[in-house]
Amino acid sequence: MTEYKNPIDFVELSKKRSYVKDVFSEKKEKVEIVGWVHDIRALGKIKFLVLRDISGIIQVTAVKGYVSDEIFEKISKVSRESVVYIKGKVADSKQAPGGKEIIPEEFLEFAHAEDLPIDVSDFSKTELPKRLDYRFLDLHRRKIQAIFKIQSTLLQAYHEFMTNEGALEAQFPSIIGSSSEGGTELFEAKYFEKKAFLSQSCQLYKQMLACSMEKVFAVFTVWRAEKHNTIRHLNEARQFDYEQAFADEFVVMDVLGRGVQFMVKKVLELNKEDLNLLEVKLEIPKTKYLTFAEVVELCKKHKVHVGKDDLSGESEKMLGELFPETIVFVHDWPLAGKTFYIMPKEGKNGEELSRGFDVIYKGMEISSGGQRIHLPELLIERLKVKGLNPKDFKAYIDSFRFGAPPHSGFGIGLERLTMLILGLNNIREAVLFPRDRDRLTP
Ligand code: ATP
Ligand code: MG
Repeated sequence: MTEYKNPIDFVELSKKRSYVKDVFSEKKEKVEIVGWVHDIRALGKIKFLVLRDISGIIQVTAVKGYVSDEIFEKISKVSRESVVYIKGKVADSKQAPGGKEIIPEEFLEFAHAEDLPIDVSDFSKTELPKRLDYRFLDLHRRKIQAIFKIQSTLLQAYHEFMTNEGALEAQFPSIIGSSSEGGTELFEAKYFEKKAFLSQSCQLYKQMLACSMEKVFAVFTVWRAEKHNTIRHLNEARQFDYEQAFADEFVVMDVLGRGVQFMVKKVLELNKEDLNLLEVKLEIPKTKYLTFAEVVELCKKHKVHVGKDDLSGESEKMLGELFPETIVFVHDWPLAGKTFYIMPKEGKNGEELSRGFDVIYKGMEISSGGQRIHLPELLIERLKVKGLNPKDFKAYIDSFRFGAPPHSGFGIGLERLTMLILGLNNIREAVLFPRDRDRLTP
C-alpha cells in the first residue's frame, strides 16, 4: 500500500492560515497561505506565481538570489492549478495587483496538476459540454465559483425570508408510488416488488402539510423525464416551494414577490465582487400584476404569438422587454391551461378562469402557482375533465376530507432563477452537476 504522510500539521495550519483576501487587509508581516497556482510567469531571474484560494488571488514573487535556490527551483517547476503551501513575508508592491505581494520563505506542493484538459483561465473559451465533462476542474474558475456563491446566497436568503414569514421548513419523499400531477413524464424506479417513480414535485405533500401546519416551505429536488433538450430545462432540477393555508393566489403572489426581492437584495449585499466578476448589473425588481387577458391584448398589440391558454416563449420574452427589472404576475389564467388541482374561478363575463398564475421575470417563467382545490368532489370533477382517473388520486383526494382549509402556493425553479438573475445563456451553467438527456456524469 502506498503510504501517505500529511506534509503539514493541518490543525496548526487551520489556526495560522491567512485567507488571501485578508492578507490585503491584515497588517501581518508574515503569512501562511494555501491554494491553487492560478498563473505563473517568468521574467529572467524573477518568477511570478499567482496563488488563488476561495477568497481571492495574490502575487508571489521569487527573485533569484533573494529567495533560496531550493524555493526558486520548486517555483520554476510548479504547474498551473497545482496545490501549494507558501509561507512568506508580505511586502508592499506598486506593480502587484492589490498593492501587495508575498516573498516566499517556505514552499510546499500538496498536489501536482497534470496537463489541463480544459482552459481554466478567466477568459476560457472552452465550450460548455467539454467544461461540464470536467466540471470539477471548471469549478477552479473564479467566474464559475461566483455563480455558485450567488446561488448559495439565494438559498440562504430563501430560508431567512421564509423563516421570517413564520413558515416551517419541510422535507418530503422523493420516491413516490404514483404520478403526483399527471402530465409530465416520470422516471421509473424499482422499489422491491413494486414500481415506483422519482418525484416530479412535492405538490401533494406540501398541500397536505399546509392543511395542518399552515405555512410550509422546502427546497425540493424534482425529476422530469422530458426528452427535449432546451437551454431552460433540466431533467433534475430544484425548486423553492411554498404553500400557505387560508390564502388565495393573491396572498402567495405577494409572498413570492417579496421573497424574490429579498433574495436579490441579499445577493446585492453579499456578492458584490461575484457580480462584478460576472459583469452582472442587478436591481431589486419591481412587481406588476396583469390578467391573462391583458397579456393577450399586449401580444396582439405587439404582434406576438400568445399560445393556447398558455404563454409562448415569445410572449414571455415580450413581457421581459415591456417590463424590465420587474416580476410580472400573470393571473386569472384560463382554466383549460392549468392543471387539475388549480381552483376554478368565474370571469366577469362568465369565462372559465382559474386561480392559477405564472410568474415571468427577465423574459422567462420562474414560477407557477395558485390556489388549490381543497374540496374532494370538485377535485374529482376536475380530474375527470382532464381525462385523469380519480381512482389513481384516491389518497390525494381523501386527504381533503377531514378538515382541509383553502390554501395556495408556488414553486420557483432554483436553477431557472439563478440563470435569469445572472443572465446565463444556458441553465446548465446554473447547476453544479447537471442532469440532462445525455448527461449522467460527473
Ligand atoms: P416550463 O413552462 O418553463 O417548462 P413548467 O410550467 O413545466 O415550466 P412548473 O411545473 O410550473 O414548470 O415548475 C415550476 C418552476 O420550476 C418553473 O416555473 C421553472 O422555474 C422551474 N422548472 C420547471 N421545469 C423545469 C425543468 N425541467 N428544469 C429546470 N427548471 C424547471
Ligand atoms: Mg409552470
